[in-house]
Amino acid sequence: LLGSDGGLGITIFEEVTALAQKHSAINLGQGFPDEDGPREILDAARSAIADGANQYAPGQGLPVLRSAIAAHQERFYGLTVDPHTEVIVSTGATESIAAAILAFAGPGDEVLTFEPFYDSYGAVIGLSGATHTTSPLLAPDFQPDAAALEAAFNDRTRIIVVNNPHNPTGSVFRRETLELIVRLAERHDAIIVTDEVYEHLTFGAEHVPVATLPGAAARTLTISSAGKTFSVTGWKVGWLTGPARLVAQVRTIKTFLTYTSGTPFQGAVALGLGLPDALYTTAASTLRRKRDLLGEGLRAAGFKVFEPEGTFFTMVDAAPLGIEDATALARRLPSLIGVAAIPVAMFCHEEGALRTRSLLRFAFCKKFDVIEEGARRLATLK
Ligand code: PMP
Ligand code: GLN
Repeated sequence: LLGSDGGLGITIFEEVTALAQKHSAINLGQGFPDEDGPREILDAARSAIADGANQYAPGQGLPVLRSAIAAHQERFYGLTVDPHTEVIVSTGATESIAAAILAFAGPGDEVLTFEPFYDSYGAVIGLSGATHTTSPLLAPDFQPDAAALEAAFNDRTRIIVVNNPHNPTGSVFRRETLELIVRLAERHDAIIVTDEVYEHLTFGAEHVPVATLPGAAARTLTISSAGKTFSVTGWKVGWLTGPARLVAQVRTIKTFLTYTSGTPFQGAVALGLGLPDALYTTAASTLRRKRDLLGEGLRAAGFKVFEPEGTFFTMVDAAPLGIEDATALARRLPSLIGVAAIPVAMFCHEEGALRTRSLLRFAFCKKFDVIEEGARRLATLK
């Protein structure tokens, strides 16, 4: 549970952002866009405050947002979700992840994640008292391995946490892999908690929501967030959808974590979810060009680049530059050349950290000129 600072509980993202600020470095570490989302959404939040939407929203979320989330699931995936009983609005995806794990896992249970894993999964599994087991995603494509996954499951596996598209590897899981996850969850009677915050940020690969697969809906809790889709990470509006029986239990936990989430942002996010397809496709295609630009820069700087199929992130291997310890490099990089990045080992347990020792993650959700300047600075590393 200790933070990367060895006890103060700050995350690697905060640590790297603080270093970036201290050295006025280009922050390709923490995954937040440096441009805000669509004007209409920002204006809607301002109007909501001016119009008096400033007191507690219902614990489950504003009805207008729950309906918009249900409509989004229907529009993009053909999923029917009841806005009254099958949706919860949360304080970012982070709260939905915490509430879902705390609702169903406890001492004696196992919670399985892929590795590398997003940091909050490990922390919340620790809080729940369950044991955290992992199945590795390996180079070069960082797709789950069927045999390893099957071996990682057993009858104590209470939850499998899926993160697709995957942070930090940028991989987008194939339909067959997701089908296997559903089969294994059925066999071992596990709940699937799927974190799909990057659902709209893919670059050609198809995003298949787990909940759309045969047999999945009854045991799957799907999580997403406005932060990524609409470039408003600071608003912390996320949500969770799933069968009423499971959602009710998550809601109990959410009630005592935060009770309810920021009212004026909820109506604005509801408006965003209803915007035309062009908003979604343009966001992804712009991001894809940023991925390509950063990828070119990283290759020119001498890194081995693992091309991501989705997310905000490109993972690289620093070994071709003669650098084996990417964590040490990440701590020096801001002062050395004025660029910040995240070491992938921070998303791993001990064994995984050894395997990913020379890997770094760079965020490309930044302005084109910022990426270009970052690439220029990285080129001086050689
Ligand atoms: N899950 C993943 C995989 C993420 O990368 C992030 C953060 N970017 C989150 C969850 C947290 O989302 P939120 O800010 O909505 O809590
Ligand atoms: N999800 C973002 C990332 O992976 C950061 C979130 C955070 O700072 N906890 O960079």
